[in-house]
Amino acid sequence: MRNLADVPVTDLKGVGPKNAERLARLGIGSVQDLLFHLPVRYQDRTRVVPIGSLRVGQQAVVEGEVELSEVRFGRRRSLLVRIADGSGGITLRFFHFSAAQKANLARGCQLRCFGEVRRGPNGYELIHPEIQYMADDAALQSDGRLTPIYPTTEGMHQLTWRDLTERSLALLGDGGLEELLPREVRRELGLSPLSDAVRLLHRPPADQSARLLSEQGHPAQRRLALEELLAHQLSLRMLRRQQRRRGAPAMHGDGHLRRALSASLPFALTGAQQRVLDELLADLARPHPALRLVQGDVGSGKTVVAALAALNAVEAGYQVALMAPTELLAEQHHANFVGWFDPIGVEVGWLSGRSKGRRRQAILDRLADGSLHVIVGTHALFQDDVAFDRLGLVVVDEQHRFGVHQRLALREKGAAGQVPHQLVMTATPIPRTLAMTAYADLDLSVIDELPPGRKPVSTVVINDQRRDQVVERVALACREGRQAYWVCTLIEESDALQAEAAEVTANALGEALDGIRIGLVHGRLKPREKEAVMLAFKAGDIDLLVATTVIEVGVDVPNASLMVIENAERLGLSQLHQLRGRVGRGAQQSHCVLLYHPPLGGVAQERLAVMRETGDGFEIARRDLEIRGPGEVLGTRQTGEMQFRIADLLRDQDLVPQVQQLADRLIREHPESVTPLMRRWIGERARYASV
Ligand code: ADP
Ligand code: MG
Repeated sequence: MRNLADVPVTDLKGVGPKNAERLARLGIGSVQDLLFHLPVRYQDRTRVVPIGSLRVGQQAVVEGEVELSEVRFGRRRSLLVRIADGSGGITLRFFHFSAAQKANLARGCQLRCFGEVRRGPNGYELIHPEIQYMADDAALQSDGRLTPIYPTTEGMHQLTWRDLTERSLALLGDGGLEELLPREVRRELGLSPLSDAVRLLHRPPADQSARLLSEQGHPAQRRLALEELLAHQLSLRMLRRQQRRRGAPAMHGDGHLRRALSASLPFALTGAQQRVLDELLADLARPHPALRLVQGDVGSGKTVVAALAALNAVEAGYQVALMAPTELLAEQHHANFVGWFDPIGVEVGWLSGRSKGRRRQAILDRLADGSLHVIVGTHALFQDDVAFDRLGLVVVDEQHRFGVHQRLALREKGAAGQVPHQLVMTATPIPRTLAMTAYADLDLSVIDELPPGRKPVSTVVINDQRRDQVVERVALACREGRQAYWVCTLIEESDALQAEAAEVTANALGEALDGIRIGLVHGRLKPREKEAVMLAFKAGDIDLLVATTVIEVGVDVPNASLMVIENAERLGLSQLHQLRGRVGRGAQQSHCVLLYHPPLGGVAQERLAVMRETGDGFEIARRDLEIRGPGEVLGTRQTGEMQFRIADLLRDQDLVPQVQQLADRLIREHPESVTPLMRRWIGERARYASV
């Protein structure tokens, strides 16, 4: 028996170069791939429905005798065929037909038809139904199975799919699909053999629920989803193990820098911050590279925790790199770190894509000779010519923008034979099940407590026809000494257009608001200009800061207590949550006004309602996942990471805990099944494991 993973689809009759190419477009190369290409839904064509009992919209099989067949020349030429079965009659309508087809539908023919019932000018109709002649017997017999409908691509008809899967199933036999889940595991979990599940899903017996199958909730579907999720989990685990096997500096700082910073902070760490810091310090003390994800809602105080961990590395004589996804966020971190570290005598360097020439070289030299201990920057830190003397810790402020690979790239910059510890911070929380899957290569810490005294931001959603009233409200707030943000959004990604729009808004607001000091910040400003504006805002020399979404992350001005977001309907939930997180940081009650431009689409309406209802980042993340799906939430849809053939992270999230246990168990008790599982489900994409 040949393993169907090794049998190319071109071995199947009916797969020539054209179909092979179409299949390849769907990632189908082998017969096994074809068998894992499962129907999206099913139709029950096994029961013949009396014509008299049909309802509009119903998809049904009917049988009847042709009473009348005529061509009508109306607006469109059509062939109308009237059939009846004693319980009633119905019209079949064809717009495209040949003379031969017409001749074959003559009075007296016995037909079986499948189609959707529509209302026509003279009673019910089936438009272009599928037809079988009851005279040619064999095809006629219903095989007692539900009819599968496959996801398809241009040029591949359902009949072709049915034909190809039929041929594949014929090859399946007993061992065509290797059983990779150990027998005892299958027995305990009550999982059917893989071949049975696949056979059932392609040709379900009519006694199975078409609805359950179409909702992808059938045990056979869940069994395949489980296996696929398991393979994914295993690949990330293997990656993690591979990484952990390497050496890393065990860092035991003496604590003098951490004590100095703690003493200078105007606050004490929250319990959650302290707990997560302890977890980080324990990681850093081990001689194997830590890989830890720190999650915490906007404003939960992740930065200071990272700073304290960084100081531990510096105390132990190692270098630290902190990387952020955008220039502005990196600048904020740089400013924060300088503010904290300068007074205690720890220098902080800066490296971004804009660092050029002699200044860049000076930084590179000092990283290479080890005289600079802390560096903050953007992706520029990944570049090949950036070399470290004793890099011990990498902190990535991720915001879902870095993929697994990028995450790993900085790790290769450790001292000879050693891998730096790595700490990833996410700016927006991810639901736990999703985090456990997407970040299965990382340990998870959650800062699940906000600093004391934070008040929820009261949020209103307002039609932009009332923009003038909102402007008035901003004026009032500013005159009372409060500070405000006015955020301009634009669909275009272009920095230039966004900058222009923000400029126009700033000018208009300047004219409308007498005596109010207005600042402007957008992505086109030079870093130094941006910094100057932000500093002025922080110092209270600017009342109203007009900004593009560049202030989405990291910006921290506690006295700002009002935020207006224009065209809020254009932004996603996590972006809105990030933006709103810029207010509500000080003692006074904060407000957020979400201005929208009508008409408001359904999804946008839903998003804005979520924003009005809750300020809890984890809840918002959960709703976001429901609205957008995992690929979008994780930002991996484009990269192809986390794409599943059968599993659906949202639908199958309840499987995740089981998948995790199973992954542990397989690695422990059945290590021989690990590689084949990864190869089957991740295949060429097994890059996680190959890193
Ligand atoms: P995020 O987790 O969103 O990155 P930040 O690290 O920017 O949050 O912290 C938000 C604000 O809260 C900053 O002004 C920070 O100084 C302050 N902060 C952090 N920890 C505490 C604490 N334990 N008590 C009071 N304020 C804190
Ligand atoms: Mg932050």
